[in-house]
Amino acid sequence: MTQPLDSYVSGTSDAPLLGETIGSALDRAVARWGDREALVSPSHDVRWTWREFAARVDALAAGFLALGLEPGARIGVWSLNRPEWTLTQFAAARAGLILVTINPAYRLSELEFALGKVGCAAIVTATVFKTSNYMEMLNTLLPELARATPGDLHAARLPSLRAVIQIGGPKAPGTVAFDDISAMGGARHREQIVALSKILQFDDPVNIQFTSGTTGSPKGVTLTHHNILNNGYFTGRAMRLTENDRICIPVPLYHCFGMVMGNLASVTLGATMVYPGEGFDPLATLQTVEREKCTTLYGVPTMFIAELDHPEFSKFDLSSLRTGIMAGAPCPIEVMKRVNTEMNMREVTIAYGMTETSPVSFQSATDDPLERRVSTVGRIHPHVEVKVVDLEGRIVPRGERGELCTRGYSVMLGYWDEAEKTAEVLDAGGWMHTGDIAVIDAEGYCNIVGRIKDLVIRGGENLYPREIEEFLFRHPKIQDVQIFGVADQRYGEELCAWIRVRAGETLTEPEVRAFCDGQIAHNKIPRYVEFVEEFPMTVTGKIQKFVMRDQVEQRLGLKAAKTA
Ligand code: AMP
Repeated sequence: MTQPLDSYVSGTSDAPLLGETIGSALDRAVARWGDREALVSPSHDVRWTWREFAARVDALAAGFLALGLEPGARIGVWSLNRPEWTLTQFAAARAGLILVTINPAYRLSELEFALGKVGCAAIVTATVFKTSNYMEMLNTLLPELARATPGDLHAARLPSLRAVIQIGGPKAPGTVAFDDISAMGGARHREQIVALSKILQFDDPVNIQFTSGTTGSPKGVTLTHHNILNNGYFTGRAMRLTENDRICIPVPLYHCFGMVMGNLASVTLGATMVYPGEGFDPLATLQTVEREKCTTLYGVPTMFIAELDHPEFSKFDLSSLRTGIMAGAPCPIEVMKRVNTEMNMREVTIAYGMTETSPVSFQSATDDPLERRVSTVGRIHPHVEVKVVDLEGRIVPRGERGELCTRGYSVMLGYWDEAEKTAEVLDAGGWMHTGDIAVIDAEGYCNIVGRIKDLVIRGGENLYPREIEEFLFRHPKIQDVQIFGVADQRYGEELCAWIRVRAGETLTEPEVRAFCDGQIAHNKIPRYVEFVEEFPMTVTGKIQKFVMRDQVEQRLGLKAAKTA
């Protein structure tokens, strides 16, 4: 008799893990694809081969040492997607520094918290972008900067910070110009970089990313070369990327989607990184795919929705596209289907993961059946293990819901200087408890059905917003929908729907109710239906349901009944 399958999966591969640092991967890229394009950023007039790119990286790394930064020091980067960002990423890795990626949407208190928490010794910063005046914010936070000797700052609020490195101009007093750093490194520093390449270990921390803040206060996820280099490599392999591919990267570099799944997939497989602009713009993305003949396109679901619904969408020739990734948030089936057909991304994949697991742990394969490719997050990634457990921590049978836990090379070292918070999510067996609720089927395909915190409990019944969102997505007039819980005296929580209606259409609450009636269980039909223009969300496309909840509760004066 065969045993019923457990919800435990372990990924195999014909390719072993890479046992090298990011610097060594760059050397190999130069040796294999030196004259091919590495980085293209049309809006910055940049078109560098791997050889040119690596030469700039090495010069910058030597300059960092000349500035007095020592291996192990933290260096922040606070900018939208620019070539300097990527140079800093690779140069930091070469020089043994830990890159601290800072959300460009951060404002003063968040910036101060992040830089202070990890004790950054330097920050590479943009000057200004649209309404974000980075230099002005830094001057407010660091009044000492204007009179400081460049590279020798002493500021009361951030005592570890020595250097503010400014991208672009006009150069502010007290800063070091990004473009001047490469020339600062002399022969001695260049020799030191070569020597370091033999000393640095792939298990050394190389990156700290602050989690995006959909829940709780930001924590510094500390990742090694081994974590992120391999994750980029295996994510790229799942799309069968080679040196003939060109990845259009409109997702933010400060998040793992850009810097790992984009930049590190490129360096390990030789694909070209193509940046369509500093911030996300659907039109610029479509233009760049067409002009640069990109084969691969990344995005969170809301980005693909914006591209598909752009009034000029049909004008673009997207025939060069083959594959790509939709990830970062639940991916609506209808949107995936349109990406397959209308954007020519016949081999598009969905990836699932989280920053703490570098990030990807599930991804569909390019040859998975279409139905599986659009409706699941695929199967387990190579060399990664996942189990789905119940509230007691026991593995559930296949097909049952539970919390998804991940183990393997991809799991972070921990949250920087937060031993307790790390122990809350990382257990003694090495499992990262994701807080996501998943179901794995008999063939190993996984569905993310909610987050533990996203669960709405109405009168003791567990309701999974994801399921109701998927249903409402089938309505032809609904462009996007979010379901969340709001306080209720009687039931504890009630469901609320926020709906974005397609351009040129009108939709009423009774129509929505009629669409649900008889189709889904009565208790899944939202008590409140509201129509909105946009959803509050983080830069990485994470919808902030807690913000929506607060707004509705305040406006309607909703309060939960007291509990014991
Ligand atoms: P972050 O650490 O910012 O990458 O956020 C990770 C979280 O995003 C996960 O824990 C999930 O809740 C969510 N997420 C990422 N990818 C997916 C996906 N494909 N489907 C559903 N949720 C996802």
